[in-house]
Amino acid sequence: MKIICIGRNYVNHAKELKNPVPKQPLIFMKPDTAMLVNRKPFYYPEFTENLHHEAEIVLKVCKNGKHVDQEFAHKYYDQMTIGLDLTARDVQNRCKEKGHPWEIAKGFDGSAVLGEFISMEDFKADNIGFHLNKNGETVQQGNTGDLIFSFDYIISYVSKYFKLHMGDLIFTGTPEGVGPLAVGDYLEGYIGEQKLMECRIK
Ligand code: MG
Repeated sequence: MKIICIGRNYVNHAKELKNPVPKQPLIFMKPDTAMLVNRKPFYYPEFTENLHHEAEIVLKVCKNGKHVDQEFAHKYYDQMTIGLDLTARDVQNRCKEKGHPWEIAKGFDGSAVLGEFISMEDFKADNIGFHLNKNGETVQQGNTGDLIFSFDYIISYVSKYFKLHMGDLIFTGTPEGVGPLAVGDYLEGYIGEQKLMECRIK
């Protein structure tokens, strides 16, 4: 399986990091070794001094597909959760300055934190509210109504380049409010009022 991530998919987040708002989805990937599941702790790595949380809705692909038409894209995902695209922001900034790829800043072990997946049946794709609490306080809050590129657009766009396989995961982008993490922080991710993700930074 692969983990596909969309960058800068909420206008206010692109602005907070002083990035331009993209005209097409910005795509990067994480290896499968980045997955952190089952409420496991995340161990703060020694190569960064500025680890950031990015709370995102994560889609699970349920059907193989290539060149998926946007009209039929909704048939290619049926489960979602809230996850964290953990980012070594200092490392990422150094990569960006040099025009280098981001993998070491974004794809390290445990950097794709996943909550429990739920069916999307009872949700409208363009009105999913989610939030992240850090030590009991809400630090990020988003709604998929504010996405620059919708889930269906992302599926269609990504599948032009990468064949989608059942089980692939798509991190759909983070709203504003990203920020640093410290050892001891306790993170809880919610879709609506439902807590689906927990992670302790150790
Ligand atoms: Mg992200």
